[in-house]
Amino acid sequence: MSDDGPSYGFDTLQIHAGARPDPATGARQTPIYQTTAYVFRDADHAAALFNLQEVGYIYSRLTNPTVAVLQERIATLEGGIGAVCCSSGHAAQIMALFPLMAPGRNVVVSTRLYGGTVTQFSHTIRRFGWSATFVDFDDLDAIRAAIDDDTRAIFCESIANPGGYITDLDAVAAVAEEAGLPLIVDNTSATPYLCRPIEHGAALVVHSTTKYLTGNGTVTGGAVVDSGTFDWSASGKFPSLSEPEPAYHGLKFHETFGPLAYTFHGIAVGLRDLGMTMNPQAAHYTLMGIETLSLRMARHVKNAEKIARWLEDDPRVEYVTYAGLPSSPYYERVEKICPRGAGALFTFAVKGGYEACIRLVDSLEIFSHVANLGDTRSLIIHSASTTHRQLTPEQQEAAGAAPNVVRVSIGIEDADDLIADLDQALAKATAGL
Ligand SMILES: *Cc1c(COP(=O)(O)O)cnc(C)c1O
Repeated sequence: MSDDGPSYGFDTLQIHAGARPDPATGARQTPIYQTTAYVFRDADHAAALFNLQEVGYIYSRLTNPTVAVLQERIATLEGGIGAVCCSSGHAAQIMALFPLMAPGRNVVVSTRLYGGTVTQFSHTIRRFGWSATFVDFDDLDAIRAAIDDDTRAIFCESIANPGGYITDLDAVAAVAEEAGLPLIVDNTSATPYLCRPIEHGAALVVHSTTKYLTGNGTVTGGAVVDSGTFDWSASGKFPSLSEPEPAYHGLKFHETFGPLAYTFHGIAVGLRDLGMTMNPQAAHYTLMGIETLSLRMARHVKNAEKIARWLEDDPRVEYVTYAGLPSSPYYERVEKICPRGAGALFTFAVKGGYEACIRLVDSLEIFSHVANLGDTRSLIIHSASTTHRQLTPEQQEAAGAAPNVVRVSIGIEDADDLIADLDQALAKATAGL
């Protein structure tokens, strides 16, 4: 598709954005360029590429033609200017923070996050001298209070793990803007079909493409999407982007590349030196998945709504956290933040506590007990004994992963079959109570 064509709808873009028939063969589907290095036309061409004066393929740690199609596809669907794909969602988070942070700097983050992200942010990033301050993102004053002179970013999830909580992105973005800081939104659980964080003020969006974007549990991957709207030179707080880069003869990314500064830095410095590169096979699987994203997400949401309602009416269930239920305190936010639905990820509390939850996950037949989400298959996990095991009881509660709670990722199977499966497993889980 040409760049100056009409503006297409989501269903068209999820199939065509970034792709064109292969110039070498005319192949209609994007080929898997299982290739490492690319021949320079001549020595001048090589020099121009290495000086970032010309854009092209050098070596697949930085750029690969198959991965490039996926980068453009995801950037387009998110309404961003560019994207950098990475080897996993966690790699994308490090890549997203890398140009912004330095030893002594911090990021203010929501308490409601994927368990692995809580661990990455509370422990691992400290080895780089970075730190994260966790606050309740429903309390805007708490976010303001947590921001100090060393803060370099604000981070949250749109539809947040594990409870399907919805972040008021517009309100959080306004706080970030007051402070002159970029808001980074992990949009994994919503996908750009349900939520477009850039339209709500996010400067950057990160994804685990492992989940709904690929959709069927085949490959791990991640992406960092740049809105292209943040002014990296305004405050002097982002020298990697505004000041001379020694490894490129003093080139200043923001001055040279304007709105594309962050994306170029992600490739030319981030991937070059951190090497968290997505491989072309993974990009291929994810491109295949994205072609049906809207169809899958609509079905995920429809199933989740039906199952959440059924669970809420069941006496063996204490409560259900799905934001798509009128009983949810976040129901009002669905219309504003994710008008096509509240996703397919939620938790419910089982009468009988920890032991009943363990019996439930062991008794289900269609649902798989796995540490994953966003698969065509329905998945369940008891977070307190698995993904959130490393957290303190207080952190578990704050993250919506109390011991009596299970998290489900509703798939696109027949909803009635899923309900029947939950029904028989709840009977076993709560027998004798
Ligand atoms: C899975 C997940 C991640 C981490 O992604 P990986 O691809 O597993 O590294 C980050 N954030 C959210 C919301 C996730 O669901």
